[in-house]
Amino acid sequence: MMYQESADVATSLPTKSPLNSTVTLNGKNKTVEEMHGQWDSFKFAPIRESQVSRAMTRRYFKDLDTYAESDIVIVGAGSCGLSTAYMLAKARPDLKIAIIEASVSPGGGAWLGGQLFSAMVMRKPADAFLRELGVPYEEEGNYVVVKHAALFTSTVLSKVLQFPNVKLFNATAVEDLITRQNADGSLRIAGVVTNWTLVTMHHDDQSCMDPNTINAPIVISTTGHDGPFGAFCVKRLVSMQQLEKLGGMRGLDMNVAEDAIVKRTREVVPGLIVGGMELSEVDGANRMGPTFGAMALSGVKAAEEALKIFDERKAQNDRD
Ligand SMILES: Cc1cc2nc3c(=O)[nH]c(=O)nc-3n(C[C@H](O)[C@H](O)[C@H](O)COP(=O)(O)OP(=O)(O)OC[C@H]3O[C@@H](n4cnc5c(N)ncnc54)[C@H](O)[C@@H]3O)c2cc1C
Repeated sequence: MMYQESADVATSLPTKSPLNSTVTLNGKNKTVEEMHGQWDSFKFAPIRESQVSRAMTRRYFKDLDTYAESDIVIVGAGSCGLSTAYMLAKARPDLKIAIIEASVSPGGGAWLGGQLFSAMVMRKPADAFLRELGVPYEEEGNYVVVKHAALFTSTVLSKVLQFPNVKLFNATAVEDLITRQNADGSLRIAGVVTNWTLVTMHHDDQSCMDPNTINAPIVISTTGHDGPFGAFCVKRLVSMQQLEKLGGMRGLDMNVAEDAIVKRTREVVPGLIVGGMELSEVDGANRMGPTFGAMALSGVKAAEEALKIFDERKAQNDRD
């Protein structure tokens, strides 16, 4: 006999409100304290495997539908991309913000400080962003130290994911950019071309694996410095002749590098803002090593730049 999800079973699924939610089952909350010493009689609520499958796929396909037309796409969920998403989602709850992250695990290179050490250094005034998030830190004069880089990353990540207007598509790579031609012949970036990262990695040995697309008036690229995936969007700008060449990341100079990345976070070609270490590849800026203030404040500035040009780019986007 075919299994049918009865109205009864469907309504007994746990429900969750978006922020600070309590998970309820049939309207009754159980506390973990109530489970103490009750393990012999312990039993999970019943479930059918298809319910698990539908709970995931229903939501995912709804999200794919909702975010096929996004207001802003952020490429890369490293420290810069997540900081950008936080500022944008907080400032504009009316905007649909899609984050595309190639890795299964968001956070980029910000789970550790330098050389696999735990602590994260942020130079002032980036401590303002830590206070904004409520991340505790130790004062050291011109800089502050977060005990675990992972505490910064997990906090900004969890805050971003709680905004109802943000959707993270992880394990998904941006493998091209959507372009539109303006009346004067110049190009504008108008969205991204995506694929499952595992598929992207197999274009050389499998054929016929067409991608998916997301339209958006503004794309913010924060894919990090050059590497197997990094600097993706700016490398594509070169191959599509929108940038003559990349400057290439230069040697390490913390003082010069951090100011340069924040100051030059900008719309590099119409519709595409670049921030974080990806920008060092465009401008030939110095690397900075394990000091993360510039990533956070580049994100703050990328959000500000996006909101400055949003109305104009949206009007253009709606026309074609
Ligand atoms: C191994 C390592 C090396 C480092 N080297 C340097 C260095 O040389 N110079 C320096 O200043 N700092 C370096 N750092 C410090 C620090 O990690 C980075 O400066 C910082 O993480 C950059 O932040 P970001 O947000 O710009 O990019 P990242 O933290 O690198 O985040 C970029 C994110 O974009 C994702 N991504 C990339 N391409 C795509 C795509 N096509 N589609 C979707 N997602 C994509 C990546 O998976 C990643 O999660 C390094 C850190 C580590 C762990």
